[in-house]
Amino acid sequence: MAAASAMKTTDWDKRIHRAVELAERYPSAAEILAFYRHILEFQKTLFADVACLSLPAAGGKAAFREQLDLDIAVQQLPALLSLVQRTGPAKLAQEAAEIGRASSEQKREILRSFLLSTDGNGPESTHFFARVLFQPQAEHLAVAQNAQSVDSSASVCPVCAARPQVAVLRPEGDGGKRFLVCSFCSTEWEFRRILCPVCGEVDHQKLSRYSAEDFAAVRVEACDTCKYYLKSVDMTVDGLAVPLGDEIATASLDIWAVEHGFSKVSPNLMGF
Ligand SMILES: [Zn+2]
Ligand SMILES: [Zn+2]
Repeated sequence: MAAASAMKTTDWDKRIHRAVELAERYPSAAEILAFYRHILEFQKTLFADVACLSLPAAGGKAAFREQLDLDIAVQQLPALLSLVQRTGPAKLAQEAAEIGRASSEQKREILRSFLLSTDGNGPESTHFFARVLFQPQAEHLAVAQNAQSVDSSASVCPVCAARPQVAVLRPEGDGGKRFLVCSFCSTEWEFRRILCPVCGEVDHQKLSRYSAEDFAAVRVEACDTCKYYLKSVDMTVDGLAVPLGDEIATASLDIWAVEHGFSKVSPNLMGF
């Protein structure tokens, strides 16, 4: 448990480092990646704070989100609001200012409603603040509970039931094994290569793959049956990729997919 937590702290550094690298590589995404980096640095400190807390034992009966600590998130909200007002995009900075003016009861309610929602990946922008605040706790809790058997056919996260953010191909034998990465607790679970995580389509002719020259390791995996898509990051092409960060850096692929009539399985933290 202690070793796992230590490993995850390094994970935050890896993500921060990658965000800096990708900002240099893709000037068109530099602004959003600079903001993402600020958010990661903030989340890293939150993670360090929660990593030393003792958590409910694995296999508890309560739903995953009910085990997250609302009080901690409420305490950390003012620091996040001020960070977003200083470094965030205009629209989000304005929302941060509005939330800052709300009563403490209302602030608490914003965060509480996220924990009560079955799908926290909905489009409501206030979810941004809740996701940032609860994610480090969720990752910590997921590490503690990840010993559970992972069902490779599950279309939502086997640990917290959130939707996948991105697919990853990891080197395995001659090819790559496909995993889905949770949009909330970042758990990875193995998933069949030719299978739509939304509608279960298995006909490869209906599961199209689109790539762009600029992004050798990232592509759009779209389903012609349900019209949903998610992106995949191929670690056999770029072994230094950090799936969550590379996913954010390739927003132009999202714009392309949406223009072609597809909806994303789950918007990322930056709202794409
Ligand atoms: Zn999860
Ligand atoms: Zn589908």
